Amino acid sequence: MFKCKNCNSVDKFELMFHPSYKGSKTFNICYTKLNDIKITVDGYTFIPDLSFMNQYAVCKYCGRINCWDYK
Ligand SMILES: [Zn+2]
Repeated sequence: MFKCKNCNSVDKFELMFHPSYKGSKTFNICYTKLNDIKITVDGYTFIPDLSFMNQYAVCKYCGRINCWDYK
């Protein structure tokens, strides 16, 4: 899981999109056998890492972007 460095909220990966993201924002979350979060966004499947979070994810609690660290 990831933690917001600004407000210290832990996001259970309710993915929030960067304001400049232009896709249709259709996404789906599931878990791998190893219990990693696996996300499908607009048909593209990946396992999010910290660099992804800091590029694209917005904290739903405080609205900051690029503010993630591992919990
Ligand atoms: Zn935050």
